[in-house]
Amino acid sequence: MEKKEYDIIIAGAGPAGLTCGLYCARAGFATAVVDSGMPGGQMAMTEWIDNYPGFPEGIGGSELGELMVKQAQRFGAEVTYGNITSVTNESGRFEIQTDGETALCRAFVIATGATPLELGAPGESELRGRGVSYCAVCDGNFFAGQPVVVIGGGDSAVEEAVYLSKMCAKVTIIHRREKLRAKKTAVEAAQAKQNIEFALNSTVVEVTGDKEVTGVKIKNTVSGEISDVPCSGAFFYVGVAPRSEWARGIADTDGNGFIITDENMETSVKGIYAVGDVRRPRNRQVSTAVGDGAAAALAIERVLNEQPDRWRK
Ligand code: NAP
Repeated sequence: MEKKEYDIIIAGAGPAGLTCGLYCARAGFATAVVDSGMPGGQMAMTEWIDNYPGFPEGIGGSELGELMVKQAQRFGAEVTYGNITSVTNESGRFEIQTDGETALCRAFVIATGATPLELGAPGESELRGRGVSYCAVCDGNFFAGQPVVVIGGGDSAVEEAVYLSKMCAKVTIIHRREKLRAKKTAVEAAQAKQNIEFALNSTVVEVTGDKEVTGVKIKNTVSGEISDVPCSGAFFYVGVAPRSEWARGIADTDGNGFIITDENMETSVKGIYAVGDVRRPRNRQVSTAVGDGAAAALAIERVLNEQPDRWRK
């Protein structure tokens, strides 16, 4: 079977991957951006993005994702569906296997992002999809007019609680500490909502329910008291893990699986780059992901332009 040939293949069509694709295609390189899900990544699962420059009133996450796809495509990047199963080095080129195809490229970019962590509470995995969720934008409407809880105290938990408060009867934010970690603006927005309550210094000890979620049992970390919070939905936002399982044998990662890169976004393997939430920075923003994507593309452009035998589209 004939192998497709590209200059650059990018795994992941979130903001980092799409920006890298846009820059690479605009520089004249044959570029493919492959994603195993909906383009946009975590950004597309965020209702509203208020801190991406250029949109003074904010913009919907899925709309921003669609705009980034269109912009990358305008310069010729192929944005396609595919589940990458292996990456091997074939005489200086990378051979990329997806479910049904094999393609070759000169540079490979890992932009697979991150995925929400599970807390591991009893009942959580059993009731996943039956009241337990990790995506308010995807599932919030199922709980319209009903009480829900959000677990976590970071930006995701607090912002998504504000989103849920627009449709749900009541939202209780359950956080293990006395103080929320989220940005001040997000905390103030949540505090201003009449139907958001806070259960601080509290941990979830169990998600209760038989066929579907009926509540969560929480423990006050100061008093030790156990109480029940009745709810139909439990949204977990306790952090993210990198989507790097398949890349771990390829490039160096830190103890948590985040891929280590240099300032050009190049990994421990020459020609393989990592951008966005899958790599090891502290900042996880759409704007920092976009910056990573541009930085990798510019570095790749320099390298490929220095190689006389490079092939262009
Ligand atoms: P995060 O910042 O890591 O927050 C996770 C939250 O879950 C923390 O409050 C943490 O508690 C809590 N948690 C972790 N493990 C727990 C456990 N075992 N039991 C109970 N609680 C636990 O994750 P995130 O909110 O998903 O955000 C991820 C990254 O994306 C962050 O860098 C964030 O700034 C960024 N982000 C930015 C925006 C924005 O700029 N608009 C929006 C969303 C996300 P502690 O606080 O006690 O550690």
